[in-house]
Amino acid sequence: MERAIRALAEARRAVAVTGAGISVESGIPDFRSADGLWSRYPPDQFATIDAFYDDPDRVWVMWYELAETLGSVQPNPAHYALARLEKAGRLAGVITQNIDALHHRAGSVNVVEFHGRADAIVCPACGRRRAMELSHRAHGAPRCECGGYMKPDVVLFGEIIPPGPLAAAHALATSCDVMLVIGTSAQVYPAASLPWMARENGATIIECNTQPSAFTGNVTDIFLRGKAGEILPVLADGVLGRAEI
Ligand code: NAD
Repeated sequence: MERAIRALAEARRAVAVTGAGISVESGIPDFRSADGLWSRYPPDQFATIDAFYDDPDRVWVMWYELAETLGSVQPNPAHYALARLEKAGRLAGVITQNIDALHHRAGSVNVVEFHGRADAIVCPACGRRRAMELSHRAHGAPRCECGGYMKPDVVLFGEIIPPGPLAAAHALATSCDVMLVIGTSAQVYPAASLPWMARENGATIIECNTQPSAFTGNVTDIFLRGKAGEILPVLADGVLGRAEI
């Protein structure tokens, strides 16, 4: 922890990359949890673009349930710690793989939502976007004015990352000298390439995870093992000069 605090305190430009693990303590299961939403709706059957086109009504059962879950959860101390660091000028931005919008709700401003967000919907045919409305649940997959089925405004497996978020993430990853990597299993690409990109440009990689990931021992310089909601407030306090460690 002391090494991580020092690295972050001395950073010229620090950036965070977050995955599903940072939101587990808010009550949103990650893909590695044995129970919860994903055991009932396996991502390879409900979160792929092929599954959406095969049977939109079927996959929308899961997306409505996820939206309902997301509407009832709150940011946790890890999200707030990142927002505090940004506000104090110690963090240039957050690249998140999460679709839960919890970084925004915690007060982070420069957030790249690499995989989109689940509280909005988009028409793949004409590009119209609007807010997700749970009240439409009884009618199955929402329809667009153009007649097509709308999908959640997230990057489904099998889809490419939109150019805007991709460019913004690359710009952050290649310009930082410290990257905090929090709660990601390093299995989902291209997000998993961001720490490697940062490392190639000389950045120090600080990883926080409850268990080693594919990054640990490879790209990670400093591994903070534990829950993000417990580790990140200590890290932020240390950097902002309030830690008692
Ligand atoms: P993942 O589910 O593959 O892995 C989560 C990682 O977080 C694991 O390595 C796990 O050990 C770690 N973890 C679990 N609890 C933690 C905690 N309290 N503190 C720190 N680490 C913890 O997640 P991923 O790598 O982000 O990939 C999953 C994909 O699915 C992402 O692309 C994301 O878009 C999506 N997803 C998003 C959400 C969300 O929006 N909250 C939830 C599930 C999945």
